Amino acid sequence: MASAQVDVAIRGATVYDGTGGAPFVGDVALAGDRIVAVAPGGGPWHAGREVDARGLALAAGFVDVHSHDDLAVLLYPEMRFKVMQGVTTDVVGNCGLGAAPAAPAARLFQAFHPGHRLGNWDGYSGYMDALEREPPSVNVAVLAGHGTLRLGAMERARGEPTAAEMARMLALLDEALDAGVVGFTTGLIYEPGCFARPEEIVALARVAAPAHALYATHMRNEAAGLLDSIRETLHVGEMSGIAVQVSHHKAAGRDNWGRVRDSLRLLEEARAAGLDASADQYPYTSASTVLVAIVQNGVLDERGSGGGLGRVGPERVLLASTPRHPEHEGTTLADVARARGCSALAAAEWLLQEEGTAATAIIEAMDEADVRTVMAHPTTMIGSDGIPTLDGTPHPRLYGTFPRVLGQYARDAAVLSLAEAVHRMTGLPAAKFGLRDRGVVRAGAFADVVLFDPATVADTATYADPHRYPAGIPHVFVNGVQVVRDGAHTGARPGRVVRR
Ligand SMILES: [Zn+2]
Repeated sequence: MASAQVDVAIRGATVYDGTGGAPFVGDVALAGDRIVAVAPGGGPWHAGREVDARGLALAAGFVDVHSHDDLAVLLYPEMRFKVMQGVTTDVVGNCGLGAAPAAPAARLFQAFHPGHRLGNWDGYSGYMDALEREPPSVNVAVLAGHGTLRLGAMERARGEPTAAEMARMLALLDEALDAGVVGFTTGLIYEPGCFARPEEIVALARVAAPAHALYATHMRNEAAGLLDSIRETLHVGEMSGIAVQVSHHKAAGRDNWGRVRDSLRLLEEARAAGLDASADQYPYTSASTVLVAIVQNGVLDERGSGGGLGRVGPERVLLASTPRHPEHEGTTLADVARARGCSALAAAEWLLQEEGTAATAIIEAMDEADVRTVMAHPTTMIGSDGIPTLDGTPHPRLYGTFPRVLGQYARDAAVLSLAEAVHRMTGLPAAKFGLRDRGVVRAGAFADVVLFDPATVADTATYADPHRYPAGIPHVFVNGVQVVRDGAHTGARPGRVVRR
């Protein structure tokens, strides 16, 4: 047998092919932007470069199904906080917050990137063109954000759209679908998404479903109203036929712990009835969001339910980003209240006055048992939900999500097998989000490949020190180009826009 010429031969890796099946030891060859051969017994190739992968696991690059990196991929195109985790495709546009129309997008994303000049483009096609002119190190799949579309279509942020405004919103979604978004999202806990009634979302879903785009949602309530919110999400699927994705599935607030067993059962029932319904998750017991949403939902109100976020004491609200008062970053709302001699609510209101939407916080709201219950469910995918505000003290999930699932949850706690964990980060999301020829290790697929050490892979980012890259992930390839080599970023930016 003649030996073929390839660009890269990766030898002796333990291959997790993304299907969830048992791994095998073998060689993988890359040529151009593709995997060209996978040989369980070793392949007879001449390679431009050999990689000795004995003892390492090889998987398709991870898909972060839940990111807020719409602007970060342009501001920080090397995307170190993602590629160092083995992420090769970033799905942006979650929680109703999308990149177009540009004017409301720039306004909303100021919360994550205060002081940065944000882009100006014409619709989603213009945004994708901008990404192709200045490609990042990761692939980008784009979701349209309902909140941004709504602000682009409506004169007033509140209330219901008029018929003309609804028509404008649908036209904006049409443009996004033509450009190649893989779905649309809502953030029903936030303004302006919270003003949308279910019929408005069903109308959008009826436009997106025939295009095989999906619907992902940060639901109206992840606390006392969790089950009603799941029902609302499934209703959108049932009325339109669209595939639905529950974002960062959780039960927030101590009063609501344990409810994820019931919410997962509702998802299972819907699947049994033929709906494509699934969820994603980040592997932490703390959430993170803008301080304004924490106050608006009544999280700090001792007698209330905490709204959609659940009730959480001020000693469990950690300030992540307060750019005008960096001395408070990393301290709790209870600390600020003590220092100012006022109530926690008054402290939060003072911070909002000072910082506007740029104030973000981390809230310790979930139960570890619930995190494990959700992760053990076979339809749960992994999404970081990281807020890419690199100047502050962001939630460590921005840097640690994927290695944490592989190390702490699969290897150490055996919540799921390593093959299953890889499947939930690769093959499963690629199928759901329509990322063709990605998420699997097979000849013909794109050469998005990660090599990690199953014995040492671990997150190292903490709440106190979040800007830390993980351990045990030496090599990452994106479209055949090496982006991480021996644990260091190569500076290469071979990412592409992945259109539906
Ligand atoms: Zn969200």
